[in-house]
Amino acid sequence: MVLSNSPTALDSVSILDMLSVHEHEQVLFCYDSATGLRAIIAIHNTVLGPALGGTRLWQYAEEKQALTDVLRLSRGMTFKAAISGLDLGGGKAVIIGQPTIKSEALFRRFGQFVDSLSGKYITAEDVNISVKDVELMMKETQHVVGRSESNGGSGDPSPVTAYGVYMGIKACLKHRTGSESLAQKTVLVQGTGKVGEALAKLLHHDGAKLILFDIDKERVKKVAQETNAQIIHDESEIASTPCDVYAPCALGAGLNPTTIPQLNCSIVAGAANNQLLEEKRDGQALKEKDILYAPDFLINAGGLINVSNERIGYNAQRAKHQTEGIYDTLLSVINIAEQENITPHEAALRFALDRIDRVAKINAYSKKW
Ligand code: NAD
Repeated sequence: MVLSNSPTALDSVSILDMLSVHEHEQVLFCYDSATGLRAIIAIHNTVLGPALGGTRLWQYAEEKQALTDVLRLSRGMTFKAAISGLDLGGGKAVIIGQPTIKSEALFRRFGQFVDSLSGKYITAEDVNISVKDVELMMKETQHVVGRSESNGGSGDPSPVTAYGVYMGIKACLKHRTGSESLAQKTVLVQGTGKVGEALAKLLHHDGAKLILFDIDKERVKKVAQETNAQIIHDESEIASTPCDVYAPCALGAGLNPTTIPQLNCSIVAGAANNQLLEEKRDGQALKEKDILYAPDFLINAGGLINVSNERIGYNAQRAKHQTEGIYDTLLSVINIAEQENITPHEAALRFALDRIDRVAKINAYSKKW
């Protein structure tokens, strides 16, 4: 296991410095010349249970970007599991490369690295990784969730993620307008991929007026036809388009000092991970504009809730019921934020950290005695 011999490689001091910023427990660098595997597994926190988080395949320009991404994403998984009441910690993995590097040997070799952590990290699918890829990892390790339905698993988590976002949007509307009804409410969905498409269909079913944007023109056209939606053609118009709810369902960091001043909505609630470019600053900027922001790691937890159910024997009804809990949790978080004059993101973090701290104290106590 080596990082790289290139002159641009990170030195060990800077890696440990990066881990110390958010107190990551462990990072595993994985290298295999035979298959071309170059991967990083990050375990952020295992106080509540084994670290669960998907594996992302991405062509990062530099190794440092891959490390930054996996550290950021694994930390988010800790809070997502904690606030969702799951007995899981936060972890994530990235494989560096183009989708063309995919092979049975590569995923089996990666599965061996996952297995070497003896269950401290459980993997699943993420961007550019399919259920089929996950099942190749399974040939080498049992520490995998997100198997196909035909293999006793829960299948693609995206529809459940979309359902959780839909429940979260209703909670935000309830808080803002006194009614959770979507009838005649305008919702702008950015990104009509697996989650965005399923979300658009749920919203359309409830009578919402939809505005859609995706950089994939064919995909957005198809979803717009199915949901009777209007399409935005120019990405620069997204932030300023008037709507009741803006639902970011593409990539992260879309809420930043450039976009927030332009926003023309009263609620931001979507599936994308890490929507705030800088959590504290951008969360505060939304609050000052009187825009209600649904913390991403809370509202998009449906997929994690769904796959985590495989560990106790998958039951779709139970997973759906647990995902509906996002509605009440989000309302509690919004109320705490208002009472304490903090942002919903800060209130949600507090919620998650309080649970982790309480369990850490019990763990320390039981070890002592
Ligand atoms: P996906 O890859 O199926 O869809 C993403 C879509 O976004 C694609 O159609 C892509 O063309 C589009 N896109 C990319 N950049 C864009 C841009 N700048 N503007 C508009 N569209 C753009 O991914 P997904 O599974 O639907 O996930 C969407 C988001 O939700 C991601 O941020 C993901 O991390 C997050 N998320 C997904 C799940 C899940 O269960 N799939 C769970 C939690 C969080």
